[in-house]
Amino acid sequence: MPNSKKDIIILGGGLVGSLLSIYLAKEGFQVTVYEKRPDPRIEDLDAGRSINLALSHRGIKALTEVGLAETVKPELIPMMGRIMHDQKGKTNYQAYGKKGQFINSVSRNRLNTVLVKEAIDEGVVFCFEHLCEKVDTRTNEAFIRPINGGETLITTASLIVGADGAFSSMRRSFQYVPGFNFSQDYLEHGYLELTIPPTKNGDFALEKNGLHIWPRGHFMFIALPNPDKSFTCTLFFPLKGELSFESLQSQEDIAQFFEEFFPDIVPIIPNVVEEFKKNPVSSLVTIKSSPWTVNRCLILGDASHAIVPFYGQGMNSGFEDCYELMKMAKSMDFDWDKLLPKFSENRKKDADAISNLALKNFIEMRDKVADRTFLKRKKVEAALHDLFPDLWVPQYSMVTFSDYSYSDAEYIGKLQDQVMRENRAIWEDRDPTPSDLAFIAEKFSILMTASLKAHL
Ligand SMILES: Cc1cc2nc3c(=O)[nH]c(=O)nc-3n(C[C@H](O)[C@H](O)[C@H](O)COP(=O)(O)OP(=O)(O)OC[C@H]3O[C@@H](n4cnc5c(N)ncnc54)[C@H](O)[C@@H]3O)c2cc1C
Repeated sequence: MPNSKKDIIILGGGLVGSLLSIYLAKEGFQVTVYEKRPDPRIEDLDAGRSINLALSHRGIKALTEVGLAETVKPELIPMMGRIMHDQKGKTNYQAYGKKGQFINSVSRNRLNTVLVKEAIDEGVVFCFEHLCEKVDTRTNEAFIRPINGGETLITTASLIVGADGAFSSMRRSFQYVPGFNFSQDYLEHGYLELTIPPTKNGDFALEKNGLHIWPRGHFMFIALPNPDKSFTCTLFFPLKGELSFESLQSQEDIAQFFEEFFPDIVPIIPNVVEEFKKNPVSSLVTIKSSPWTVNRCLILGDASHAIVPFYGQGMNSGFEDCYELMKMAKSMDFDWDKLLPKFSENRKKDADAISNLALKNFIEMRDKVADRTFLKRKKVEAALHDLFPDLWVPQYSMVTFSDYSYSDAEYIGKLQDQVMRENRAIWEDRDPTPSDLAFIAEKFSILMTASLKAHL
């Protein structure tokens, strides 16, 4: 019987590993999670700093499926749109979608704690401070070392899932298997986190319900709200070069940099120079791999497809991995041998698509959100969406607020680009009339039909 064995090991109890453990426990599997870090219920894994993420439709859909949407809700701060800050401190607001559509700021550690608590309530066994060193894919054995000393444990199960993040130990083991492909690309930019504390009166220092962006061409600064009325800020900045983390060394240079590019931030981050010097600079990596499975081992989430954070989709796509895997598993009676290769093949194209879109969005966020033509195009697309809601869905909305697969969103977005480019005379320098919009929509409809026929 394909589903007669009900024991599963998950490596990594981060966001994706903990969520998957809940899905599996609810289906009656005995799940053991090995996590190298301490129990998040006891220890603050962010060491006092709040690191937050944007949770949107795909993540919420996956949480809803296991009945967690309401539990997570009090942890969320809605962000209705982008609030852009120019170099003179002037702001400009762009809604993310239609009325009622928003993304949510959530603390990584608090979300992880909710997931771990729920998983334990469902009977999942967590072995914290246990590090997986490697996996033998031929024998289906994981080699687990207790961090605080003791013998390495060799353990097995009917399925082992590597949800152990961008530098996955299971993926490392896959690299010895013929036919396994893998790529790793570092961005020339790194990032550093800073905090805007609440004001003296205990209020948010900036508008609470938005994602703040300071776009500066080759770099940018962003801020997301936290429930304690602080903001977690991230500076995405070149690692090397004339103006870079490497070049900004002295107190004077750092102070001058913030005064010049972010004058409105200086008064709201006390000791910005000291914070900048003290906090670590981290790198950003894109990882692609294929296939995601070898025998009864599977890599999921960042372990199989780590992406840059500029579409806010890394966690959301990892959560959607869990949702899609379980949907397929149920439809195939948990026959792992048949379903794992199929899942990997189906899902990989979507992971590649969101990976490409995330890189593209970096340029959009740091460079274009302040560009006149870009802003005009957003307005025209919103008008098209209002008039033809089923035909024209802006790419950001397809990715963030819908169930379109990421690969469809990427593909349709390219067709939209083409139509907007070819018809720019109608919308770029004047306000298009309703018949202009109908004309653009018709051109798009013709292009979609032709491209669907070509794919048949
Ligand atoms: C700056 C930044 C901002 C981001 N913003 C967003 C956002 O707004 N929205 C969004 O959707 N995504 C965002 N992401 C992406 C998101 O953080 C990841 O996609 C998500 O955390 C992936 O979850 P995961 O469980 O696959 O991996 P991880 O969160 O990395 O979890 C992996 C877990 O495995 C454990 N582990 C690692 N190695 C081992 C081992 N050998 N043995 C045992 N345990 C191990 C780790 O301790 C960790 O707990 C952002 C990422 C960055 C860097």
